[in-house]
Formats: sequence, C-alpha cells, structure tokens
Amino acid sequence: MRMTEILEKKKQGKALTEAEIAFFVENFTNGSIPDYQASALLMAICLKGMDEAETACLTDCMAHSGEMLDLSFLNGVTADKHSTGGVGDKTTLIVAPLCAALGLKMAKLSGRGLGHTGGTVDKYSSIPGYKIRLSNEEFRAQIENIGICMMGQTGNLAPADKKLYALRDVTATVDNISLIAASIMSKKLAAGAKNLILDVKCGSGALMQNPKDAEALAHRMVKIGQSCGRNTAALLTNMDIPLGKTVGNALEVQESIEILRNEGDEELRTLCLTLSAHLLKMAYDWDYNLAYQKAKESLASGAALQKFRAVVAAQGGDVSYVDHPEKLMQDKTPTLSILAPCDGYIAHMNCKKIGESASLLGAGRAKITDEIDPYAGIVFAKKTGDAVRRGDLIATLYATDKDKLPLGKARFEEALAYTNEVPKKEPLILKEIL
Ligand code: URA
Repeated sequence: MRMTEILEKKKQGKALTEAEIAFFVENFTNGSIPDYQASALLMAICLKGMDEAETACLTDCMAHSGEMLDLSFLNGVTADKHSTGGVGDKTTLIVAPLCAALGLKMAKLSGRGLGHTGGTVDKYSSIPGYKIRLSNEEFRAQIENIGICMMGQTGNLAPADKKLYALRDVTATVDNISLIAASIMSKKLAAGAKNLILDVKCGSGALMQNPKDAEALAHRMVKIGQSCGRNTAALLTNMDIPLGKTVGNALEVQESIEILRNEGDEELRTLCLTLSAHLLKMAYDWDYNLAYQKAKESLASGAALQKFRAVVAAQGGDVSYVDHPEKLMQDKTPTLSILAPCDGYIAHMNCKKIGESASLLGAGRAKITDEIDPYAGIVFAKKTGDAVRRGDLIATLYATDKDKLPLGKARFEEALAYTNEVPKKEPLILKEIL
C-alpha cells in the first residue's frame, strides 16, 4: 500500500478502507510516514470529511496504537468523564470522588492546560505533595483499593493521537469533528473504563462555537463509544459563561472543595450532579431520578468530600489543604479589582478572552514548556446577566508576578459587554445525548 494512493483517494473525497486507515495510523506512529504526508491527509480530511465508519475505524486504530488499559477485573463499574475543555471547568474534581463514594471505580486520566482552557492536572498540582504520575500498576491498585485514581495521562496511551495532535495544532487541522472525535475517544477507549460521560462545551470559550457543531461532535463520540461496547452519554453545555465563581488552579481546587462540602455555586453543583447521575444510571442501570438523588446524598452526607480526602492522601497530597482549603492560596498574592464602568447589566462574557486573561495572569500556558503559577486566577463577583452599578466589583484578579495583573485586566475587560436591558438567561445544560 502507498501513502500517495491514500492521499489521492481522500483528495477526491472517497471513503478510506479499514486497511488504509490502519496502514496510515501504524506507519505514522512508527515514523515510516513523514509529517508532510500526514499533514496532507489531515488537511484532505478537513476539506472532504470522514464518514461515521471511517471515524470509528480511525478511533479504534489510534486507541490500539499503544497500551490498552484492562480494567475488566473491576467488574464493569469502571467510569470516566471527559470535558472538551472550558473555562473554570473543575467538574472532574467533584464528579470523580462523588461517584467513587457511591461505589463506581473512577479511572481518571487528565491532561495539562494549553491556551485559554485550564488542565485538570495543573489543578491537582496546586495541592502540595499530590503526585500526578503513577505507574499503571499503581493506577490499577489504587482504583481497586479506594475506588479512584486521578492523575496525568500516561505516555503509552494512544501515542498516535499525541503525534497527530501535535501536527494538527500547527497545520490548522484541529477543528474537524471526525478528527476531534477520534482524538478524544481513542484516549478514552485506551483508558479502559466501561461507562463514560462526555461534557461537550459549546460557545465562546469552547472548541465548538455553535450548538450545531457541538451536537454533531457529541453524537459522533457517543456513537463511537457505544459501538465499542462502552456505555456512553453526553451533555451539551454552555461555555458562553465561565463555570462557577473561579478560574485558576488553587482557586478552582478551593471551589471544588466548597462544592464537595455541599456549598457554593448552584449551577456548578447542578452540572456535577447531572454528570454524576448519568454515570451512575449507566453503570448500575438505575432510574435517572434515583441516580440524581443518590448523587445529591453523596454530597450532602460528606461521603464525596471524604473520598476526595482519601484520593489526595493516597497520592501523597497534604490533606490539611483539603481540611483547610484557605491554605491553598497565599495571603500575599497581589490582586487587582475589575470594576463596572457603567450602570446596567452584564450582557456577555467572552469566555475565550476570560480564559486568556487567566492564562496571562499565569494560570495557564501559551506553550507547553511554560510554568504555571498555582495562585494566579480570577474570582468573579458578577457574571453574565447580573445587574451592576458603576464602580461595583466584577472580579478580582490574582497573580504572583504583579506585572502580569495589567495584562490580565486588559484582556478581561475586552471580554465584557454591557446592556441596559435585562439579558435573557441561557441554561447551562443545553441538551442530553443518550
Ligand atoms: N481535545 C482532544 O483531546 N483532542 C482534540 O482533537 C480536541 C480536544
């Protein structure tokens, strides 16, 4: 088989066979197919598309390009969640212990942040001592012993995706539904969980800006998961408003602990309960309302918080930071206030710009080698839809390097639009795809 023939075929918009896709993935991963030919294929896929069968085959080949974690010894109650990336998205830190407290075996591998969206692994790293790298044996043993492990992605899972994603990033080929679906689902299939909930974000802070594309992506991923024998469902959620009251690493861990204490932002709690209820429903075959009720009880009883404390302890973290989350932030971190410039309502917060503001403050990375400032971030006093008077506090910005505060402020202010009319409130959960 020749790569030039595969390129010619996709250039003409024809569907590739399983053998052709397998040939490409295997030989690109082992270095036999050079980046320039892979780039040409990626661009042809962006321009001509891939059908459902091709996407499913690409996903399967990418998943099998490295190690496939076998969690079958945990008897089918293994569960995982995935978010397509948002601003202020700390739901993993809440959903994983909440479900583990109800007996699900949570196998959670997360990535580092890049660009305007935060990475869950960077949030864990703001807990002193917390280890984000464990061996596969330690990963499996911890899930067996305490029902949960939350750590960074291991190098051996879906290596084809790692290589392809790096190429997509520099060849303007990220925003294709088939390529995104294959990239995400290959890692999820390789990570081994039987039950999977996907949080597909939609709006100014998301990969998918419009609901139609986001829904198409969600449907495609759900189908791939189901056809590969995994119970899979998705929520389409609004990323035109930051999630919860904070963006940043230590700040988001603090907010997660607040929710685990059954306090804090109502919408964030509702999203976490809904994601959890879908996982519980799929894993235990429970009625949805019962699953939701059980999820609420896991928070209310303190069981979810205790499970979070247990996972922090198991991974070497200092649990005094869970018991006293105020310690996660340093008193002396420099701050800057964002004040309302007029009377009225906040009409819109562009989440991409809010995420960029947090990143400029030091909470995220522009390039993968950048250092994270765990204390950098944003605390919102007001969000979209809120009434404001001139001079009211809208947000407080934090950065250890005080020279970053004006940069973060300028980007934050670009994100805001005001109106005199009461803005229409958009729901956070737009759709459920089962
Ligand atoms: N996240 C991924 O893991 N892959 C993509 O292609 C896009 C977002």
